[in-house]
Amino acid sequence: MDNDAWAGAYADMDHDANILIAGGGLNGTALALALASAGFRVMLVEPRSRAERKADDFDGRSYAFAISSMRVLEALGVWSRLKDVQPILRIKVTDGRPGEGASPLMLTFDHGEIEEGPMGYMVEDRHLRSELLNAAEDAGVTQMDDRVIEHHADSAGVQATLGSGETRRVRLLVGCDGQNSPTARRVGIRRMGWSYGQTALVCTIAHERSHQGIAHQFFIPAGPLAILPLSGNRSSIVWTERAGRAETVQAMSESAYLDELRPRFGSFLGEVSLAGRRFTYPLLLSIAERFIADRVALVGDAAHVVHPLAGQGLNAGLKDVAALAEVITDAARRGEDIGRPEVLKRYERWRRFDTMALAAATDGFNRLFSNDVGLLRGLRDVGLGLTNAIPGLRRALIREAAGLTGDLPRLSRGKRL
Ligand SMILES: Cc1cc2nc3c(=O)[nH]c(=O)nc-3n(C[C@H](O)[C@H](O)[C@H](O)COP(=O)(O)OP(=O)(O)OC[C@H]3O[C@@H](n4cnc5c(N)ncnc54)[C@H](O)[C@@H]3O)c2cc1C
Repeated sequence: MDNDAWAGAYADMDHDANILIAGGGLNGTALALALASAGFRVMLVEPRSRAERKADDFDGRSYAFAISSMRVLEALGVWSRLKDVQPILRIKVTDGRPGEGASPLMLTFDHGEIEEGPMGYMVEDRHLRSELLNAAEDAGVTQMDDRVIEHHADSAGVQATLGSGETRRVRLLVGCDGQNSPTARRVGIRRMGWSYGQTALVCTIAHERSHQGIAHQFFIPAGPLAILPLSGNRSSIVWTERAGRAETVQAMSESAYLDELRPRFGSFLGEVSLAGRRFTYPLLLSIAERFIADRVALVGDAAHVVHPLAGQGLNAGLKDVAALAEVITDAARRGEDIGRPEVLKRYERWRRFDTMALAAATDGFNRLFSNDVGLLRGLRDVGLGLTNAIPGLRRALIREAAGLTGDLPRLSRGKRL
C-alpha cells in the first residue's frame, strides 16, 4: 500500500492525531518529519518558539555525523538542503599533555580504508536545526509552542495536557524531551549514570591554515579535546575540562581564552581566532532503565546521554528515530494499534543493547584517558600504537564509528519507510 492510501486507512478520527511528540530538539523534529512523511498525523510540542530555535546562535554545537545519520537525513530529503557540510577525511587520535605536544604514538583513521567515501561529516547545529524544522513544516507536522505537563494512558489512547491547559488525545506519546525527560519522570522510569564532573567548552575558531578535512582528538588528563573540521578555514572545538576549571576559563576574556586553548593543540593551524559565541555543556552519563511505558516511548537524550568524546549522542538518537519510525509504520500497515506494548517492545529490544554498548565504551574511554597515571598512560599509548599497526582492526573501528555495523533500520540505510 502506498503512503497516501495507507494514511487514509489509518485516519483514526477518535484521536486528535496519531502521535504526539514532546520535545522539538533535533531528535523530536527528525522523528516528527519521518512519521509525517510516512503518512501519520503528528503533533510536535516544544516550549521554545520556532523563531528562537531557528536563530543562528541558538546552540554552538557542530555534530560529527556518522554515515548512517547522513543516510537518515538523505531518506528524509533534508541532507541536500544543508549548508556548509564538511566531509571528515581522516581522524587522528593522540595522547598528550598541554605544553608537551602530541605523543608520537598516534592512531590514524583514513577514509580510504572504507568503500563508502568520507567516514563522516561535520554539520553545524544552526543549519541542521532550521532545515529539519522547515522540512517538518512542509511535511504537515502540527507544531505547538507549549510543553506537555501531564498525561494519562488507557487501553485506547493517551491524553496529554499542555501548559496552556488544553488537552490532546493520541495513540502514542513519544518523549524526545531531553536528558531531564519529564515524560520519563511522569511514568516513573529511573535513570542510571553519573555526572563526569567535567564541562565541555564549545566554540568555533577561524584559522590561517587548512585543516585538510582532518578531525583531531587529543586525550589530555583533564579530558579530551576535539578539533573538528568545518567548511572553509574553520573548526569546531569541544574542549573538556574539570567543571570548576571550565567555569574559570569560560569567564575569561576572548584573548585569555585563546591563550589557554592554543598550547593544548599547538601551531599546526597557524593563527587562530574565535568565530562566534562560546558555549558550555556539563557532561554526564544518563541511561533510562526502560525506553518504553504504557503508550509511551523515549527517544534521543530522553533515553540516553553519553560523553561526547566519540561524537555519538545524536547519531544514536537518529538510530532511535529510524528504529521507532520503522516499528510503528510496519505495525500500522499490519493494522496493529501503534501504542500497544508488544509494538513498543520491538523498539526497545532493537535499541537497548546498542545503547548500553555505546555508554560502556564512551565511559571506559573517558576513564582511561582523562587521567595522568603513568601506568595507564603507558598502556594506552601502547594500545593506540598497536591499533594503528593492525589495518583490519582499524577498518572495523572505522565501520563501527561510521554507523555501518549491526541491524540497521531502513532509514539508516537510506531507504524510505
Ligand atoms: C558538547 C557536545 C558535543 C556533542 N557533539 C556531538 C557530535 O559530534 N555528534 C553526535 O552525534 N552527538 C553529539 N552530541 C550529542 C547531541 O548534542 C545530543 O545527543 C542531541 O542534541 C540530543 O537531542 P535531543 O533532541 O534528544 O534532546 P534536546 O536537544 O535536549 O531536546 C529536548 C527538547 O525537549 C524540550 N522539552 C523539555 N521538556 C518538555 C516538555 N515538558 N514538553 C515539551 N518539550 C519539552 C526542550 O525544550 C528541548 O528543546 C554532543 C553533545 C555535547 C554536549
